[in-house]
Amino acid sequence: AAGRWALEIDGLDVHYGRVHALRGLTLTVGEGEIIALLGNNGAGKTSTLATVSGVVRSTGGTVRAFGRDITKAKPWEIVGAGLVHVPEGRRIFSRLTVHENLQLGGYLVSDKTVVSRRIDEVYTLLPRLAERRNQHGGNLSGGEQQMLAVGRALVAKPKLLMLDEPSMGLAPLVVAQIMKLIRQINADGTSVLLVEQNARAALKIAHRAYVVENGVITLQGPARELARDSRVVEAYLGA
Ligand code: ATP
Repeated sequence: AAGRWALEIDGLDVHYGRVHALRGLTLTVGEGEIIALLGNNGAGKTSTLATVSGVVRSTGGTVRAFGRDITKAKPWEIVGAGLVHVPEGRRIFSRLTVHENLQLGGYLVSDKTVVSRRIDEVYTLLPRLAERRNQHGGNLSGGEQQMLAVGRALVAKPKLLMLDEPSMGLAPLVVAQIMKLIRQINADGTSVLLVEQNARAALKIAHRAYVVENGVITLQGPARELARDSRVVEAYLGA
């Protein structure tokens, strides 16, 4: 039914020259869901997000967002359709202030009073950023930078938020804060596609999860079931 899926990736293929990075990858994100995409280094997680965002061109398959085919759409059209990507490594502008970084999240919004209002909403959700609004991005801790990257994405008003390894390099307590934030954003009505190597943290907040290996989905199911699956425990949750 229309409105059921935020994202439908069907049989996606991506090549980088001779490297066949995605091999018929298929997954869905339902409206209102948090979906975790788990996998090791080089499995194809980043390529999946980059292809959905229109930054990498697929060589086969289709991507639909909220019922609309976006397989060949431009990156800014995809943002316009409500899909916002928080890339790996955060990409905060370290010599701009927190506030200026947030303003950049609204670059596609012509009405700047709308941008100001959304930034105020981000400050309400993340008071730590409000306290540091005039600090340079580069002076923030790793966790604060990740929150800023998420806050910047929120200024674009995502219907589907795609996060690439938000827990990377963060201490366990900070990872827990980021996961709580993602849960809160989801509770406010935003669908989430969460790419993580930290399977333990991701499975705690996800409704469903997929495991990608060598560019193809090898396991999928409700997060609670995958967290108990011996193959997942052995390969991704450690002993
Ligand atoms: P990571 O956590 O390291 O980002 P990943 O699961 O996100 O891993 P991808 O970055 O999507 O994996 O990489 C999938 C495959 O594509 C890997 O074999 C990688 O080496 C290859 N690859 C990715 N980007 C390029 C590129 N620009 N040129 C050539 N090969 C690439």
